[in-house]
Amino acid sequence: MFIKLLLVTAICLLDFSADASKWDYENTDETWGIDFAQCNGEKQSPIDVSTYRAKTDQSLGVVRRSFFEKRPKSMTIANNGHSLVIGDFVDTYEINDPNVLPFTAVLGQYHLHWANTADGGGSEHLLDGKQFFGELHAVHYNKKYGSVAEAADKPDGLAVFGWFIDTKYPQENLYFGNLIYHSLRGARTAGGKMQIVPTFSLETLIPANLDSYYRYSGSLTTPPCYESVTWTVFKEPIQIDMRQANLLTTMFYGDKEGTSPLRRNFRPVQKLNGRKITKPATCYGK
Ligand SMILES: [Zn+2]
Repeated sequence: MFIKLLLVTAICLLDFSADASKWDYENTDETWGIDFAQCNGEKQSPIDVSTYRAKTDQSLGVVRRSFFEKRPKSMTIANNGHSLVIGDFVDTYEINDPNVLPFTAVLGQYHLHWANTADGGGSEHLLDGKQFFGELHAVHYNKKYGSVAEAADKPDGLAVFGWFIDTKYPQENLYFGNLIYHSLRGARTAGGKMQIVPTFSLETLIPANLDSYYRYSGSLTTPPCYESVTWTVFKEPIQIDMRQANLLTTMFYGDKEGTSPLRRNFRPVQKLNGRKITKPATCYGK
């Protein structure tokens, strides 16, 4: 019983639950640390990624699109009151490349953060001070821990890949539209969850170019803010169009009743506190 309770608690804290009552996005810097001490830590995320300060690390390898190609046999999309989450994968991909990550990483779930309005800023990380409309986070766990819940509080527990979401696409991004379509059908209000059939791969959602990325040590960007994340933030954004951004900011709710819109679900940037940001030699530009 005790073990079961622990597991349920861990999962709730990790946002799989529709219980959004524990925390919200109002005054995050002042309030989160009261109930979740780790949120006041020294290695918190997100951060403003300063590309000119990032040091080239020759040991960092190429992130290949093929990493993300595998289509799971089954998956769900859920509204947990804080975000739209794709997860519950049956048979998803693993990344096993010591030049990219220091451990074998298994995709646990991916989710989105976005702005208050379609023309606003809602990404969590910034790129040289610039905030994009949104951000997609692909949460991977260290295979040796077996699940996101088990890995979340371990120093080498998680590897999250972040892609900015920009709104400059001249027409509908059909792949992203796929995600929105399923969300509208089954995840408009908190607690909503549905199986996606047929499934699609994460590869359909991410941008073409993965050469430029930034690596640092940080945390979950939601309570309990565990400092267990090897972060990889990509420079090239996912492109969607304004109509799709509008759907995200107007069609979803953070409560069961459908009265409180789900939007502006990002944490402000945190202090770097001397942490190093590195990049691979393939990084273009600055
Ligand atoms: Zn996130």
